[in-house]
Amino acid sequence: MVRIAGTVYLVGAGPGAPDLLTLRAARLLARADIVFHDALVHPETLALAECAVKVAVGKRSGRHSTAQRFINKQLIDAAQKHRTVVRLKGGDPTLFGRAQEEIDALVQAGVTLEIVPGVSAAFAASADLHCSLTRRALARSVVFATPREAVGSKQNTWAQAAAAADTAVLYMAAGEALAVSDALIANGVPASRPAVIVENASSDQCKVIPTCVGNLAAAAQGVGDGPALVMVGEVYADVQAAIAGDVMAPAFLPSCRTA
Ligand code: SAH
Repeated sequence: MVRIAGTVYLVGAGPGAPDLLTLRAARLLARADIVFHDALVHPETLALAECAVKVAVGKRSGRHSTAQRFINKQLIDAAQKHRTVVRLKGGDPTLFGRAQEEIDALVQAGVTLEIVPGVSAAFAASADLHCSLTRRALARSVVFATPREAVGSKQNTWAQAAAAADTAVLYMAAGEALAVSDALIANGVPASRPAVIVENASSDQCKVIPTCVGNLAAAAQGVGDGPALVMVGEVYADVQAAIAGDVMAPAFLPSCRTA
C-alpha cells in the first residue's frame, strides 16, 4: 500500500455563524492545504483557510450533490498529496452528517483521521430561542432524530423515539412537516404539544415559527429555503406564549424575526 502522509480532519463548521467555530477548527483551517466543504459553510469560515484549495462537495436536498463515494475517494486522494486535509461539515460532523461513511473509507484506506466537534444546530436554535432543551421539572430527556430515511436503513423508529422524549429536535424535518405531525400523533403525542420551527439558527436571517404538533404542516409553510429544525416539547410552551404576547416579550429573540 502507498504510504499516506496526510491526515484528514473531519471538522464541525458550526451552525452557520462564522464565529461559532472552535479554536481548534480555526487553527486547522489556517494550516489546511485543501478543504472539502458543505454547501452551507459560511464564506467567512472558508476565508480562514487562506492557503487552501477549496472544494465544494455539499449535499443539499433537491440540489446538485456529489455522490458520497466520490467524496470518500477525493479525501483519500487528497491525503496522498497533502499534509492537512480538512473536511468541513455543518454543525457537528457526527450528527446526521454521513460522517461514518467517510470515517470507514478513510480507515480502510489507512488514512490517519481526526474529528473536531462543532456546535450542532440544536444548540444554536436553543440559544436563539433563549430556551433550555432540558428545563428543570419539564424535560429530562432530549432526542435528536430525523424522519429522513437513508437507503438500506434499518426499521425506522424515529417517531417512537421522538414521542417518548420530553424534548425532540428533528433535523431535516420541516420539508415533510405533515408526515412528521401525523407520525408523532400516531405515536401518542397530543396534537396540542408545543412545537417551534427555527430556520437559519445563529444567523441574522433566523426565523422562529411557534406552533404545536397538530399544526406543524401549516407552520412549515412559513419556512423559506434555509435549513430548519422542528423542535417539540413542553419546554416550547413559553415560546408560543411570548410570541402571542401573553408573557413579556421584549428581550426575547434578539436576533430573530417571527413569522
Ligand atoms: N451536522 C449538522 C446537521 C446536518 S443535517 C448539525 O450538527 O447541525 C442538516 C439539517 O440540520 C438541516 O436540514 C436542518 O434540519 C439542520 N440545520 C443545520 N443548520 C441549521 C441552522 N442554522 N438552523 C436550523 N437548522 C439547521
